[in-house]
Amino acid sequence: MSKPPRVRFAPSPTGKLHIGGARTALFNWAYARRHGGQFLLRIEDTDPERSTKEFERAILEGLHWLGIQWDEGPDIGGPCGPYRQSEKYPQYREVAQRLLASGHAYHCFCSTERLDQLRAEQEGRKERQVYDRLCAKLDPAESARRVASGEKAVVRFHVPPGETVCIDHIRGDVRFSHDEVDDWVMVRSDGSPTYNFCVVCDDVDMGITHVFRGEEHLVNTPKQVLLYQALGQPMPEFGHLPLMLGTDGKKLSKRTGDTALQDYRDKGYPREAVVNFLCLQGWALDGTSVLFSVDQLVQHFDIKDVQKAGAIFDPEKFRWMAGEYLRKEPLATLAAHCTPFVVEAELATAEQLSENAKWFEEVVKTEQPRINIYSELPARIAYLFQPDDAVETNDAALAAVRKHANAAQTLRDYREWLAPKVAGGIDAAALRDTSKAWAAEKGLKLPAFFQPVRFALSGEVHGADLFDVMALLGAESVLRRLEAAANRLAEA
Ligand code: GLU
Repeated sequence: MSKPPRVRFAPSPTGKLHIGGARTALFNWAYARRHGGQFLLRIEDTDPERSTKEFERAILEGLHWLGIQWDEGPDIGGPCGPYRQSEKYPQYREVAQRLLASGHAYHCFCSTERLDQLRAEQEGRKERQVYDRLCAKLDPAESARRVASGEKAVVRFHVPPGETVCIDHIRGDVRFSHDEVDDWVMVRSDGSPTYNFCVVCDDVDMGITHVFRGEEHLVNTPKQVLLYQALGQPMPEFGHLPLMLGTDGKKLSKRTGDTALQDYRDKGYPREAVVNFLCLQGWALDGTSVLFSVDQLVQHFDIKDVQKAGAIFDPEKFRWMAGEYLRKEPLATLAAHCTPFVVEAELATAEQLSENAKWFEEVVKTEQPRINIYSELPARIAYLFQPDDAVETNDAALAAVRKHANAAQTLRDYREWLAPKVAGGIDAAALRDTSKAWAAEKGLKLPAFFQPVRFALSGEVHGADLFDVMALLGAESVLRRLEAAANRLAEA
């Protein structure tokens, strides 16, 4: 590669950051890092009705969360600013004037009614719906006079005859005949520039060498390519990333799962899992590795390896991958990641958790093998925070424990045996062995012992290791819960 690439991510702040957008950003960023180039962030906010500062903030936050840093952008500036399209209107106007003067563009005065009628007629004749170039025939001096006198006009790009080939690293060379391209509108009658126009002005101003974006933009590429030619600028190389599809093979939508990056962050998907999974949507490290780090991504990413076919976004695989990363986290990290979810569930305050940091790490450790995402923790540990005489339970657990004929008595006997053993604290490993021996001596099968005890401690008959749970609760709480459950079962 001769000179270092300059690539960009150019979101429109008209909604939350879509997972498809996040993937586009990751691929561009990884490409720049791999090839020693620059990655730019540009905000495409030319739609004043739908663009908001809140969405812009949320997009930047999402990118930061993914661990993506940009070399130039609206928040940090750079030599090719402004990086927000709404701040560049004078520049766009100047380019439009230049293209009008050189004959690459013309004013069009056609009314909406005329255009509607034209379209209806073409439709009736089963012809392609294109502008018939009525205003291209006007004398430019006459047009300029009409505009100066206040008549409303759009500026259209004048598509020349011919054929163009552009480089697409994913789809191969893309050849198109100019006949397929309409004389598209560059500037609306209110003076506002359109997306296809701004994008090219910006990519030229910013020295963009490679444009990697979603396949939905493939229809725009010919229009943009012709504009580069009209401006006498070198055309960038392209890469149109495959669509992300739901497991039903249709375009990803809310119907098949969350589509905003923020939804996955808010649900407690580990960041590394999100990066890994999104990159697998159309790319693979090699033929075999499913799990890879950001460093590996940067070392290996190349746009040529991105597939053309649609990428299936499988939420189940995503959850599985989240679990793989969650299980690798050191306890202190996992505890920190889970804290906001426990606080949100109102089980404890952040201060309480940090005052009992070692204890909370032990809590997290007991559940680490069982959860896939951070938000699954609170429901599984809620029992630890409930009053000893009011541990919540459910009918299924109650019914399961009632199957054991002498459950209440078993709990009383065990409590009596246990009390002196735990007076000095709970050693889970030692207690596991001695308790099993006690149950055997009593002639109790393990479920007839474990299930009532677990029910007493957590209100459930399944869950984390019983003796780990005892250590988490502490001796006093364990004894009180055994008694409370024995009373409850005896009453019923
Ligand atoms: N602003 C466009 C979008 O959000 C991206 C344009 C481009 O990458 O060329 O889809």
